[in-house]
Amino acid sequence: MDSLADLDARIAGCAACPRLVAWREEVARTKRAAFADWTYWGRPVPGFGPGDARLLIVGLAPAAHGGNRTGRMFTGDRSGDVLYQALHDVGLASQPTSVRPGDGLELYGVRVTAPVHCAPPENKPTPGERDTCRSWLVQELRLLRPTLRTVVVLGAFGWQAALPAFAEAGWTVPRPRPAFGHGAHVRLSAPAGAGGPGGAEGPGGLDLFGCFHVSQRNTFTGRLTPAMLREVLRTAAATAGLPGRT
Ligand code: SF4
Repeated sequence: MDSLADLDARIAGCAACPRLVAWREEVARTKRAAFADWTYWGRPVPGFGPGDARLLIVGLAPAAHGGNRTGRMFTGDRSGDVLYQALHDVGLASQPTSVRPGDGLELYGVRVTAPVHCAPPENKPTPGERDTCRSWLVQELRLLRPTLRTVVVLGAFGWQAALPAFAEAGWTVPRPRPAFGHGAHVRLSAPAGAGGPGGAEGPGGLDLFGCFHVSQRNTFTGRLTPAMLREVLRTAAATAGLPGRT
């Protein structure tokens, strides 16, 4: 099987969704005036964080002038500012800012990814694009499986996109599928052959938490406050066995 670095490289070369390929490249060409001196990444954005992460954060998709510009998840936009500030506040990131690759940011036991790796117009991938991209998330989950204990999913889109990926990667997702909500908590049973008794209580089970997305709409309106985000991250870190900061 590939390493996570191999997977990231393969994701960065993906061109399976014609509409998204055209959009990500057009945005990279036309740019936003404030970033005129940037050479935009303009490709799929792989996950970011260590390959032995115990906690995975699943968003929606890269932003046109954020991840699609910098090439790193949640890097260079307001959503990322909120997320990485909170990760730093709870002791899971080396610094509160995420500006560009090589800026010194390190995540401690945490990886950040998305069910759709290309920036979509209006932040809205189609169901077909979501389904096409799922195989990347499934492969990432399989590679992280030996250490992965907890997942925080940001927003209802990510939740709906990620549940089938967990199932495909081998975890048992309850039926009917659990509904998304801020603070929702579901335990998924272990993949077959993961060791231990194989039930939700045994090694290899996965704790899944829902959290409102860190979108500008949610953070500007106060639907998601920094305190609410820190609370979910602290709970998830503790569940994953990460030291974090209280
Ligand atoms: S959204 Fe996913 S599947 Fe579609 S082109 Fe981008 S990386 Fe490939």
